[in-house]
Amino acid sequence: MVAETSELIEFRRAFVWLLCGMLLPSVALVAFGVVAVANERAAVERRLAEEYDARLHSVAQDLGLRLDRAADAVAAGRADPLIALVQPLEAPPLELAEAARRAATLPIGGHVFATVEIGNERRAYALVRSVASGNELTVLSQYDLQAVADQVAHLAELRFPRERAAFRLAPPREPVAALAALRRIVAEAGQTSTVVARMPLGPPLEGFALTAELPGDPAAPLAFRNRTLYIALLVLLYVGIGAGFGLTLREMRRAYKLSRLKTDFVANISHELRTPLTSVRLFAETLREGRAEGPEEVHECVTLLSAEADRLSRMVEKLLDWSRLESGREQLELERTDVPVLLDRIGEAYKAQQLPASYQTEIEAQLPAVEVDRDAMAQVVLNLLTNAVKYTGEDKRIRVRARRSGRNVAIEVEDNGPGVRPHDRKRIFDRFYRGDDLLSRGTEGTGLGLAIAKKIVELHGGRIELDSRLGEGSIFRVILPAV
Ligand code: ADP
Repeated sequence: MVAETSELIEFRRAFVWLLCGMLLPSVALVAFGVVAVANERAAVERRLAEEYDARLHSVAQDLGLRLDRAADAVAAGRADPLIALVQPLEAPPLELAEAARRAATLPIGGHVFATVEIGNERRAYALVRSVASGNELTVLSQYDLQAVADQVAHLAELRFPRERAAFRLAPPREPVAALAALRRIVAEAGQTSTVVARMPLGPPLEGFALTAELPGDPAAPLAFRNRTLYIALLVLLYVGIGAGFGLTLREMRRAYKLSRLKTDFVANISHELRTPLTSVRLFAETLREGRAEGPEEVHECVTLLSAEADRLSRMVEKLLDWSRLESGREQLELERTDVPVLLDRIGEAYKAQQLPASYQTEIEAQLPAVEVDRDAMAQVVLNLLTNAVKYTGEDKRIRVRARRSGRNVAIEVEDNGPGVRPHDRKRIFDRFYRGDDLLSRGTEGTGLGLAIAKKIVELHGGRIELDSRLGEGSIFRVILPAV
């Protein structure tokens, strides 16, 4: 009892450790997963922005070079499609005064960029140092913003021919009024592309930005895919943890049950051994003290003494058998055997047991032979027969039947005993398990007979089955492969 309680405590402690060890990290993991799922869209947008920033950078560089080239064309007196207007800068307006000063310091052919905001309109200029009729002067050339915008698309096409995104020159953001914001939201709802990256430009396009736009909402499917993946992984993780938990729990429960069975077994076996030992001592004492009266009583005492000694040795034999089987030391000597020969061997072993009942044998004609270790198989059937005798009442009707069962041979032991209760039917084949109804409690036993039988049959590649009806009897069936 004490051992049982301490084992239970051990079991519970192990379980609590298991819970802590698995639950805490898994809760943390789930929290992490939930945050990841929630942030997925932002993460995808960030990734896209990073990816397109690099491309925008290249396009901006190309655009800068192209604007320089246009200014150089003006310096050389050539026309350039990006330049809308060229005029000498004589009296620079206030906004251009600083740029004009800087341009004046440049050598011929040099230029300075400037952006000017006039009214609501932004203009882009290049102030180019040039020579006209022998005089050095600064020429004000105004960029055609529409042509520059077209140029952006063209440059991007040249650099990234297979790119899905559209690169655009975005005008300066207008100041956002309350109503304008609303209007923009409405407009965005129906919009068919999304700006994934934006890069502000320097002079002469100050205030303008280069943007990369992808059709539709590119983050949505990606975010959805990743989110689904996360959720699937989480579910998988939990299913795994759940399965692991279940399996561990089952194993622990098994180990716990087995240890309880063992404790029971030790108690049982001590009890079982004590009974015949007490009798042996009692009869021996009776004989020693000369308390037996007459030769008849002496004879009776000796007979009982020998029966009790037999009982003891049977129990010890069973224990030894089991330990041999458990340790894998049992070596089977398989021989091709005809079923009647096997049944004869069983009959001899049965007779030696001197059990208080006999049994009938039925053998189907022309049974195929089986490959068995005769002694081991005789022991299997003997165990079944001993049980049949042990667990039936006064009127014992026991039958051993050998018949064909598909491609196999079945040897059945049938009795008219009390039958086995449904919830015991699987468990009686477990080691140390004894049915706890009164009948098995009142009989000698170790709970090993059927476990030994099952193990031996399985070593032969066969199986053992039970058909049982409560109150009517049981049929234990050994099924062996035929040769
Ligand atoms: P033991 O007979 O030593 O208890 P066994 O392993 O041979 O151990 O049997 C296990 C249990 O199966 C028995 O305790 C009993 O409850 C049940 N049992 C075995 N054979 C029969 C039978 N022929 N009829 C009813 N119950 C049986």
